[in-house]
Amino acid sequence: MTSPARAPLAAAEDPGLQPVSTLPGVGPALAQALARLGLERVQDLWFHLPLRYEDRTRLTPIRELRPGQSAQVEGRVEAVETGFRYRPQLKVALTDDSAATLVLRFFHFRRAQVEQLAPGTRLRCYGEVRLGANGPEMVHPQYERIAGEASAPVEERLTPVYPTTEGLGQKRIAGVIAKALLRLPDDARLELVPAALRAPLALSSLREALLTVHRPPADADVAQLTLGTHPAQQRLAFEELLTHHLSLKRLRAQVRALRAPALAGDGRLRKALLARLPFALTGAQRRVGAEIERDLAATAPMLRLVQGDVGSGKTVVAALAALAAVECGHQVALMAPTELLAEQHLRNFRGWFEPLGVDVVWLAGKVQGRARKAALAAVAQGAPVTIGTHALMQEGVAFARLGLAIVDEQHRFGVHQRLALRDKGARGDGVPHQLVLTATPIPRTLAMTAYADLDVSALDELPPGRTPVQTVAISNARRGEVIERIRAACAEGRQAYWVCTLIEESEQLEAQAAEVAYAELTAALPGLRIGLVHGRMKPKDKQAVMDAFKAGELAVLVATTVIEVGVDVPNASLMVIENAERLGLAQLHQLRGRVGRGSVASSCVLLYRPPLSQLARQRLEVMRETNDGFRIAEKDLELRGPGELLGTRQTGQLAFRIADLARDARLLPAVQRVGEAMLVQHPALAERLVARWIGGAARYAGA
Ligand code: ADP
Ligand code: MG
Repeated sequence: MTSPARAPLAAAEDPGLQPVSTLPGVGPALAQALARLGLERVQDLWFHLPLRYEDRTRLTPIRELRPGQSAQVEGRVEAVETGFRYRPQLKVALTDDSAATLVLRFFHFRRAQVEQLAPGTRLRCYGEVRLGANGPEMVHPQYERIAGEASAPVEERLTPVYPTTEGLGQKRIAGVIAKALLRLPDDARLELVPAALRAPLALSSLREALLTVHRPPADADVAQLTLGTHPAQQRLAFEELLTHHLSLKRLRAQVRALRAPALAGDGRLRKALLARLPFALTGAQRRVGAEIERDLAATAPMLRLVQGDVGSGKTVVAALAALAAVECGHQVALMAPTELLAEQHLRNFRGWFEPLGVDVVWLAGKVQGRARKAALAAVAQGAPVTIGTHALMQEGVAFARLGLAIVDEQHRFGVHQRLALRDKGARGDGVPHQLVLTATPIPRTLAMTAYADLDVSALDELPPGRTPVQTVAISNARRGEVIERIRAACAEGRQAYWVCTLIEESEQLEAQAAEVAYAELTAALPGLRIGLVHGRMKPKDKQAVMDAFKAGELAVLVATTVIEVGVDVPNASLMVIENAERLGLAQLHQLRGRVGRGSVASSCVLLYRPPLSQLARQRLEVMRETNDGFRIAEKDLELRGPGELLGTRQTGQLAFRIADLARDARLLPAVQRVGEAMLVQHPALAERLVARWIGGAARYAGA
C-alpha cells in the first residue's frame, strides 16, 4: 500500500465489527462453534454465503419425481420395514394423491424414529431422488411430520444451504445469520467501494445483494442462482475478486518494501555463457532476460513470473539470471518439483557453469549422509549455485548470502513453498529476489488475478526450426498399428516415447503399467532397444536409462508421467500416450511438449479406450487442432474451470466463497481497474475491504 492505512472505524460505530456474541441468543457455546468457521464478527456472518439453495417453495407429486433432481414431497406413510440382515436399514413407503410410491431409506436411525413413522403419519420430506429397484427413492431425506390433514404452507423463499461444521445445524446457522442481517446498515454506510468507481459498472447495491443471496425472493430466478449468475451473486463475486486482487497486491507491496541486494554484475560470466551456447537467444529470451536484469539491479526484491510454453527455452533465461547474481558474489538456489527435473537442471547448469569456474551443489531428498553434510557445508560457506527439490527448504539448509531464489514449474508448488524458499534467504528486512518459471500458460486476465503479486513476463516465441507436432487420436483397438508405426519411425533413426498414464495418483500402479507395456513392446519389437523409466526406480538407474536414451542408444523409452516436466531429448520425435482420454489438457500438452524439440517433423499418438465421454472427446479434439499452449489453456479453462489449472488445492489461495474465475472472467478487467484506483486513491478502504472478506485468511496471505 502506498500510504499507511487509516484505522478502521471503531467497533462501536461499525455494527459489522462487533463480536457475534453481541447478537441475541448467541452464547459462548454457539460463539465457539461459529469461531470454528472463522465467524467472529457480525460482518463475518453477512459474508458467510450459501453454498447452494434448496427449493422448498413447492411440493412435487411423487409421480413426477425424476432421478437426480432434489425435490420436496408430501405424503402418507403406507408401510414401514426395518431390516438388519446386512446392515441396519429402515425403509418407509410414502404415497400421495398422485398414487405413486416413494421409498425413504435410512441406514442410521433410532428406535424412537421408527415409532414416529407409523403407517398413516403424514410427512413432508426433502431430498435427492434416485432410482431404486421399485421406483423412486430418497436416502436419508430431511423430513418433518405434519399434524392433521391440512397442508402446511410451503416456504416462500429458496432455502439457503450454508457451509457449516459439526454440531452446528443449518437451521441454527441460518438463524444467526438472519439476526446478523438485521444489523446491516444502509447502503451509504455499508459500501466500501467508492460510488464513483462503482457507478460505471451498473452493479446492484451491496445491501440488496446480500439480502438477496441470503433470502432469495420466491420469484428469484432459480436457474441463475444455481449457476451463480444472478445479479446479486455477480455483485458479490465482483467484490470478492476485487478483495482477492487487493490482498495479493498488498502481499506484493509488503515484499517490495523489503530490501534485496542490487545484483548488477559486470556481465563477464553471462557473456562467456552466451559465447559458448550453440544457439542465439530468441527475441523473447532477450526481452525477458533484460526485464530480469533490470529487476535484479534494483534494491527492491524482484517478484517475477516467466511464463513460457514447453520448449520456449526458460532454462537458459534462468541460467543467465543466476550468473548475474554470481557475478556479484551472491548465491542462487534453483528448486524444481521433481527429482528428475532437478537432475536435468543440474546437468544443464553444470555443463554450462563448470567451464566458467562456477560450482553447482546438488541437494535433493535422496542426498543423504556424508554427501548431504558436504552439500550443507558448501551452501553455508557460500557456494554460488545450489540446485535441488523441496529438500532445499528443509531444516538445516542455511545459505550464507542467498541473492536469488528460482522456482521452476511453479504450478507444482504451493505459494507457501515459494515463500518458504524466500524466507530461507531472509536476513533482517533483506530477502532474495524471486524468479518463478512456469510452463502452464494461463490466459492473461487470469494471470493478472491469480498472480497479482508477481510481475509477469511472457516467453512467447519458440526457438527457430521447430516444426509443429502432428497429433492423432487412435482407439486402443488399433494398438497393433501404433506399434508398427514405432517400428517404422525407429527404422528411420528416430526415437520414440511410450507414456503410460493412470488416473490414480499411485506411483506403484503406474510403474506396474509401464512394466507391462515394456514387456509388450519388447516382445513386439524384437529388433529395437527399449528402455524403461518410472518413479519407483533408483535415481541412478533412472538417470542411466535417460542418459542412454539421450545418447541415442535406446530407440524407445517406455515411461510413466515422470517425464512430464522438462525432460529434453531433441531427437525423440514420436510419442504415444496411453489412456490419453483420462488426462487433462494441461498434462497432455506438457507430455506432448517432450517431442517437437528438434527440426524433424514430430508426431503424437493419443491412444484411448472407447467409449469416450463428451469431455474426453472435446479434449482430444483440442489437442489435435492446436499446439498453442495459450489456446489450450483457454480451452482448458472453458472445459474444466480454473481451479485445476492453477493447482488450487495446493495453493489454497483461490478458494472463493462465491466468485468463480472461469464463470466470472468477464468481471476481471473491471476488477483490475477498480483495484488499481482503490490502492492509489482509497488505501484505507481497500484495507477494510480485505479485512471484511478475508479476515483471518488475510493473516496467512501476509505471511
Ligand atoms: P522449457 O521452456 O520447456 O524449460 P528448455 O529451457 O528446456 O525449455 O529448452 C528447450 C530446448 O530448447 C533445450 O534443448 C534448449 O537448449 C533449447 N533452446 C533454448 N533456447 C534456444 C534458442 N534460442 N535456440 C535454439 N534452441 C534453444
Ligand atoms: Mg523447463
